[in-house]
Amino acid sequence: MAYVIAEPCVDVKEKACVDECPVDCIYEGPRTLYIDPNECVDCGACEPVCPVEAIFYEDDLPDNWKWYQQVASDMFDQIGDPGGAADYGKIDHDDERIAKLPKDINAHLLHGNDQDGGDQNTDE
Ligand code: SF4
Ligand code: SF4
Repeated sequence: MAYVIAEPCVDVKEKACVDECPVDCIYEGPRTLYIDPNECVDCGACEPVCPVEAIFYEDDLPDNWKWYQQVASDMFDQIGDPGGAADYGKIDHDDERIAKLPKDINAHLLHGNDQDGGDQNTDE
């Protein structure tokens, strides 16, 4: 069992989670981060710090994001279990399912959700 990073991380990559992980098992790819399910110790420290709520315990993944669990599993089948993200550095590719996601998939997260309402000039 492990924690899994799902869609809100794609192209957002705030990386708050990386600093919390006691076993350094959160690896960065070009468009998202990946938790190594073989190295994750299920401590849960990463989950509450993600500003976009991208991290889920695998049993708690929303149905439409369950496939992110397979993405993580396949990624570390490919590259092995490196034993620490800081030493490993960046993964040089994304899973093909991530690579194919639209470029603006999380544009709404990147442009801020300021809740203050405010005086934006929207002429729509
Ligand atoms: S904190 Fe959330 S958005 Fe940031 S890298 Fe971690 S999972 Fe991705
Ligand atoms: S649950 Fe703990 S061990 Fe697993 S990725 Fe998050 S911080 Fe790291």
